[in-house]
Amino acid sequence: MTNIVVIGAGVTGLSCALRIQEAGHSVTIVAKDFPSGFETIDAATQINFTSPWGGAHNRFILPPPGAASDSQEAREHSMALLTWEEMHALHNRHLEAGITLMKAYDYFEAPEIAQTSLTEDRAQNEFGMKGFRFHSKEELPKGVQLGYEYDTWSLNPMVYCAFLLRRFAYRGGKILKREIRDPLEVFEMKDLAPFDALINASGIGFGDPDIFITTGQTCLVSNPCPVTITRLNAQGMPTFNVPRNFEGGTIIGGTKIPNDWNPNPSLELREKLLSNFAATYPDILGPDGKFTVIRDIVGRRPTRKGGPRIEKEVVRGNRCIIHAYGLGGRGYELSWGVADKVGKLLASHLGPANATFGQRQAKI
Ligand SMILES: Cc1cc2nc3c(=O)[nH]c(=O)nc-3n(C[C@H](O)[C@H](O)[C@H](O)COP(=O)(O)OP(=O)(O)OC[C@H]3O[C@@H](n4cnc5c(N)ncnc54)[C@H](O)[C@@H]3O)c2cc1C
Repeated sequence: MTNIVVIGAGVTGLSCALRIQEAGHSVTIVAKDFPSGFETIDAATQINFTSPWGGAHNRFILPPPGAASDSQEAREHSMALLTWEEMHALHNRHLEAGITLMKAYDYFEAPEIAQTSLTEDRAQNEFGMKGFRFHSKEELPKGVQLGYEYDTWSLNPMVYCAFLLRRFAYRGGKILKREIRDPLEVFEMKDLAPFDALINASGIGFGDPDIFITTGQTCLVSNPCPVTITRLNAQGMPTFNVPRNFEGGTIIGGTKIPNDWNPNPSLELREKLLSNFAATYPDILGPDGKFTVIRDIVGRRPTRKGGPRIEKEVVRGNRCIIHAYGLGGRGYELSWGVADKVGKLLASHLGPANATFGQRQAKI
């Protein structure tokens, strides 16, 4: 049996670990942080572990007209579609995974060509968006020029990640809680059996000069909401909500500020996030006409110039590292696409006997 080590127990590492396990390999996850109850995740010491602080929903970001099929935009859209399929299948098999199926409403104050050139036919047949329809002028919130809806998913991040971790352990996956300084260090670790490849799903990588953080402040409220809405404003930050469900409340957001290392939420900003969202979707306030705040959240999206790094590197002889980091604000919505790509890169390293990696394995 082939042994594989995965650095990272965020959504990327866990998805990769499960895919590799499904192909019949023995997998060990080495990580500093593991999923646990959201209520006890420590905002001060675990702010760089992004997965607890994410929404997390899927919002399709459409490639602009004429984008090449191998462009970053097109590749990410394919990964989002693959993840969409997997999230729906997971939802249907495992209600306890913490996934909810719902409509996404995308609103644009100043639509760009990717939106203005869209037709219902293209949305459904070219971009694979199910349940797509444009909203009429009467349905749009004040100030919005164009809006549409489609079928999507949203999830409770720590319920979901804990589910993935549980499946991994149940299937014989091993876990080692360690902080490491360099991926090469893992090849020398005495408490690991010899292994064939290392997956680097560490979120921000190890000293990659192209990596930066994009900080997001959001507010978690207990008000339920049956849809996930993203409003891209002509100026300033977007306005969005992400229902977590499973007693996880609803995220109201939010900022996206590059290289902002301030870990403290601003109460003034919280008020702005809440009032912006209520102006777009007043029904969120419910019969009491108010928000009930659970907590403020500050998270750091591990962002990378030029897009995520998903590639194989062979170092010091035949030591294979497959990188899967820098997912920015899309780690959940691209997760199964990333895991598939990592699986294929691993198969190419391990050789023809592992060619089945290219095909889908038994479902988790
Ligand atoms: C406010 C906010 C809203 C978001 N909303 C969404 C959304 O709606 N949809 C979506 O898809 N995404 C969303 N995201 C982004 C998403 O949360 C991230 O893309 C995703 O969590 C990244 O996951 P990851 O597994 O790659 O990294 P992480 O979750 O950061 O995990 C990294 C793992 O590597 C380990 N690690 C790192 N360094 C070391 C080391 N030196 N030694 C040992 N272990 C190490 C960590 O302990 C951890 O286990 C949002 C993010 C924020 C902040």
